[in-house]
Amino acid sequence: MSNMHGWVYRNLRRLWPGGIETQKHLRELKKMQWLSHEEMEKWQLERIQHIVKYAYENIPFYRERYGREDIHPEDIRSFKDFQALPFLTKQDVNSNRESMVAPQMRKKAFINMTGGSTGESMRFYIDNSFWWWNQALEYRCRGWYGVKEGDKLAWCWGDSRDMYDWNWKRRLKAFITQQKYLNAYSLTEEKMRAFAEMLVEWRPIMVRAYVSALELFARYLKDRGIFDIRPKLIETTAEKITVYQRELFDEVFGCPVADCYTGREFGTIAYECEQGRLHVCETRFPEIIVKGRAARPGELGEVALTSLSQYTMPFIRYKNDDMAILDPEPCPCGRGTPVYKEIVGRIFDFLVSTEGKYIHSAYLMLVFNTKPEVVRFQAYQPDKRHLDIQVVCKEKVTEAWKDEVIAEIQSNFGKDIRVAIDIVDHIELTRAGKHRFVISDVKPDFL
Ligand SMILES: [Zn+2]
Repeated sequence: MSNMHGWVYRNLRRLWPGGIETQKHLRELKKMQWLSHEEMEKWQLERIQHIVKYAYENIPFYRERYGREDIHPEDIRSFKDFQALPFLTKQDVNSNRESMVAPQMRKKAFINMTGGSTGESMRFYIDNSFWWWNQALEYRCRGWYGVKEGDKLAWCWGDSRDMYDWNWKRRLKAFITQQKYLNAYSLTEEKMRAFAEMLVEWRPIMVRAYVSALELFARYLKDRGIFDIRPKLIETTAEKITVYQRELFDEVFGCPVADCYTGREFGTIAYECEQGRLHVCETRFPEIIVKGRAARPGELGEVALTSLSQYTMPFIRYKNDDMAILDPEPCPCGRGTPVYKEIVGRIFDFLVSTEGKYIHSAYLMLVFNTKPEVVRFQAYQPDKRHLDIQVVCKEKVTEAWKDEVIAEIQSNFGKDIRVAIDIVDHIELTRAGKHRFVISDVKPDFL
């Protein structure tokens, strides 16, 4: 029955606005993923040249900016030429928004915004083709796990903008497209019970979730011995998934977990393949920047992205305030797109040692995520001399265990940092429903 519905859905889908375009992009992407690294670079360079020329000719902001720096689109013959173009920041977009829209697209443009919980909020324009490309990207990637457009999708989600203000049209669409929601903002035991009972009956093909919210739900299911919700795929986003969470999801749901790197400005940016590598999508050109220059292979730096499919408001060399490492090794799955080795939280989520050494949050993940007794943690650094860490453990730990952890941290931070480890029952989620591992009031000045 569910397959029948999916089949009907996929055929009817073509009649809806964007249906034909989405399917065209999907077909294109399915082929494109198998291009070799060299073929992919060639395709991306052509798209880059196209969008830079388009921006120069159509967008007042870019024409003025490139004109001022004497940059001409014809001069972009290589990635190196492209990498001499100025970066785009959130502040640039916020202060030049109206002059960044292509005049001929003005009527089709509508506003969207990034969340303000982990940095500066930003408003920007997109048009409907944004969603057509994004759906094609999502379904191409989900296809790696046997999930098709129109398959039953359960959400464990928390952003109010995605749910509360839905009008009847979107609710109708969710009904037709077979989607069910568990609101991660108000996870009560009663709501989890009802959701669990519904899912056992309904049999979702995939689950899309905020990791920390799904973790709560998975623990609820495990405690009650509910192991018969068996989707083909769990897609997680917005926060890094820990080893403990992967093991928990595997135990409770028994299916692969794909981490998906997204941003409101772009939609899907990168998606984890069957080999566990985070592939950058074809329509995004990724760069890693250290002090204004391109990072060396494997070096951590700021994320800069160019969207090769957004023409209403082009994002060219846009810094989204995340940090990442690109993997110099190609993925054994054979797809030619670049791979992120690691996405590190926001720029501000850095810790500082008393000697002024900057330590990114991945270090604490190494310390805690490899300890099986630790369920989650959150570190707060008020100043260079103090580090307060809350830890949720699944079993009782001793004072000696805490001392060992403190010694391990001090071996990197220096002996004179005061580390306080506080064992707690639970850690509050931040407003956007994301779990932040590290919160620091000490801002790095090395960028
Ligand atoms: Zn791969």
